[in-house]
Amino acid sequence: MQPTARPAARRAPARRPAAAPFDPDETPLARTRRARRMARELAVLHPDAHCELDFTNAFELLVATVLSAQTTDKTVNKVTPALFARYPDPVALAGADRAEVEAILKPTGFFRAKAASVLGLAQALVERFDGEVPGRMADLVTLPGVGRKTANVVLGNAFGVPGLTVDTHFGRLVRRFGWTAEEDPVKVEAEIAELVPKRDWTMFSHRVIFHGRRVCHAKKAACGACGLARWCPSFGIGPTDPGAAAKLVKTPAASDTE
Ligand code: SF4
Repeated sequence: MQPTARPAARRAPARRPAAAPFDPDETPLARTRRARRMARELAVLHPDAHCELDFTNAFELLVATVLSAQTTDKTVNKVTPALFARYPDPVALAGADRAEVEAILKPTGFFRAKAASVLGLAQALVERFDGEVPGRMADLVTLPGVGRKTANVVLGNAFGVPGLTVDTHFGRLVRRFGWTAEEDPVKVEAEIAELVPKRDWTMFSHRVIFHGRRVCHAKKAACGACGLARWCPSFGIGPTDPGAAAKLVKTPAASDTE
């Protein structure tokens, strides 16, 4: 299968990355224009971007997102069919036998903690929300184990409410893009919300995460094969030779979906 990321249309200028990608002297207008240009290019580079967790409703997505902590989406997708066949809704999961749930979740790692977590989540849904997943951020973040990242995944993908999903890939990439210098996910979310139109937040999040999984890796960024190179102040933190960089680009099948 071919990599989804196109090589850069023209070779980016040879330059070393800025010591700190965020340039405080870049005007807000210039940063917004650059961000929107890069966001448009991400849409071209990753037309197949989507939520990589399998789900059929908000409850399944909420549980799958909680289970995805410290494991890959692929691993979660292997256990959720059995979990949801046995416990299809919050009422069924709230009354589940903990040992049975632990046995199903074992391949995901930390299975005892995760079983306790999803049981507590299901019980809270039954006790406080009539067994329904609420469609508001203010309610979702009151659920045990649910922070803004998980809430935004659920809002964006199950309720059609735009949300920015600040996971490790997202934070790493927007800092490399020089869009923010913040490390705190809530502050990152607030700053990126100023740069990207609200209607695009959910798909933009998927595209950034795809780019992080396939091209702009934590350890070896494929800069020489990156379609964002000409706008990215971090160009050069990974190999800039197009041939060497192309070997680092992961195909969809090989991407870690972590
Ligand atoms: S791969 Fe390199 S050029 Fe592309 S976004 Fe990441 S740091 Fe920037």
